Amino acid sequence: MSIIIAVDGHSSCGKSTLAKALAKHLHYVYGDSGAMYRAVTLYFLNNLVNYHDVQAVTEALGNIKIRFKRIEGQNTTFLNDENVEREIRTMRISEHVSPVSTIPVVRRAMVEQQQHMGKKRGIVMDGRDISTVVFPDAELKIYLTAEADVRTSRRHLELASKGIDADWAEIKHNLLERDRIDSTRFDSPLRQAPDAVVIDNTFLSEEEQFELALNYARERGA
Ligand code: C5P
Repeated sequence: MSIIIAVDGHSSCGKSTLAKALAKHLHYVYGDSGAMYRAVTLYFLNNLVNYHDVQAVTEALGNIKIRFKRIEGQNTTFLNDENVEREIRTMRISEHVSPVSTIPVVRRAMVEQQQHMGKKRGIVMDGRDISTVVFPDAELKIYLTAEADVRTSRRHLELASKGIDADWAEIKHNLLERDRIDSTRFDSPLRQAPDAVVIDNTFLSEEEQFELALNYARERGA
């Protein structure tokens, strides 16, 4: 049976690593909802859309097409047919993405696309509101967390591996600030769903976390 697996949690706690590994193993689709909010943010910044202006935002959303393609085995984000995978991960985008993600019209547009991606089930999607808003009927909901310093070091390494140089303290500040905005916003804040399983991976290896999550998925029929 194909199920829906929703992975939510704080910034940089390994959600996408886990979601990708599960999707690969189960031959499911991987849905990177954060990449969608990042791509919207990139569009707004590049096209000088004032994101405090609801009308400008609504108009701009009509010109935004986000697609995912697999390139050399990697999930790759396209914004209006341009490969933006690298650019959406930069600090410039990380600094603006949480304020942009508070905007209800933006969320409505993204959630609609995300729900469409999960129509046939067989999907692992990671984000902040996947188990509470996008797929409240997901068979498996995982709430992932880890200590802030561990998350910062992981993000630092990840950016370095992509050739993006960023300051450790700046990364930590950005993570905590995004967590704050994401958890306190009015529209679909980051919340642990009552029926979610919690995995704290501070002291877990990627393999240990994967085995744990895969067991939960198997128990729920994947
Ligand atoms: O997952 P990632 O860290 O790439 O997400 C970037 C930002 O996008 C988050 O900090 C959050 O502000 C926003 N986001 C969201 N809802 C989601 C996924 C991401 O608001 N489902």
